[in-house]
Amino acid sequence: MMSENELPKTLQQAVKFFSDDLTCVEFVASRRWCDGKAVCPKCRETNNTFMASRKVWQCKNKECKKQFSVKVGTIFEDSPIGLDKWLIAMWLIVNAKNGISSYEIHRAIGVTQKTAWFVLHRIRVAMESGSLEKLSGEVECDETYIGGKSINMHAKKRKEAKMTTGYTTKSAVMGMVERRGRVKAKVIKHADTQTLLGLISDNVESGATVMTDDHGGYRKMTDEYIHEVINHTIEYVRDNVHTNSIENFWSLLKRSIKGTYVSVSPEHLQKYVEEKTFRYNGRKGKDKDRFMEILNSVSGKRLTCTQLTGYETGNQAEETRHEISEKNQRPVVI
Ligand SMILES: [Zn+2]
Repeated sequence: MMSENELPKTLQQAVKFFSDDLTCVEFVASRRWCDGKAVCPKCRETNNTFMASRKVWQCKNKECKKQFSVKVGTIFEDSPIGLDKWLIAMWLIVNAKNGISSYEIHRAIGVTQKTAWFVLHRIRVAMESGSLEKLSGEVECDETYIGGKSINMHAKKRKEAKMTTGYTTKSAVMGMVERRGRVKAKVIKHADTQTLLGLISDNVESGATVMTDDHGGYRKMTDEYIHEVINHTIEYVRDNVHTNSIENFWSLLKRSIKGTYVSVSPEHLQKYVEEKTFRYNGRKGKDKDRFMEILNSVSGKRLTCTQLTGYETGNQAEETRHEISEKNQRPVVI
């Protein structure tokens, strides 16, 4: 496994470093998996054989035997673009202080502007959620509305707000949670089909089982996913189908917001949601693990391998984490 010192420090070094395919694979593997040790996406086996010529792993579990690349289950999946180009695009994006356009990416890495737009979009998704990996397995998706009391508002303003969020002065948030796993949540302008299904496509691995309520925005889900719907006017749980995990996240989020959060811009709400998401995702962790995770995201490396335990709040480490997270308002992926 490569050490931090071996990593490139300038764009020129990065181009040279990532020009080697195996280096790219090793680099992404070291970011995704604990000690860079590949995990089978199908059965979670960690004992796998790397086939260097094809740059894929073969699962050693006799009942599985799946072959998989480092791209499977990440933002790089379903893209024909090589990791060399992805990593240089990431280098450019995370180091562009004033942002970067898809035209600049297009010229710099030699892909069409449309492709560059897609690359830029996917990298932003990873930066916001702090992970290259998509959610998989059983994923519950839901939207909720936060903040603002319409009662104190002028009727005209209330109408305006209702037109933008569809729900008086409240901001809409879309959330996705992998059962027994991570949550991802985003403030959205409209809870419409395009927005909801777009977020699912960006954040959830194809083949996953997606559970939602009967909100119309989910009706046109592609058959890339197994879609299970629970109609809350009839029942809350049907066999394994329910949205209790995401509802649980909403109540944690709302409980912490209550009283302090009346009316803040959607941008600030997004930061708040990200902070709660980070805490939820580290809920099983020890203070040290959360501390390391935030340190790693400051230095440009985020752990996805930490095994986390217990949901703690209000202790010393929590305060430390707050101080650090303020300096680190935008988590960086690499
Ligand atoms: Zn396997």
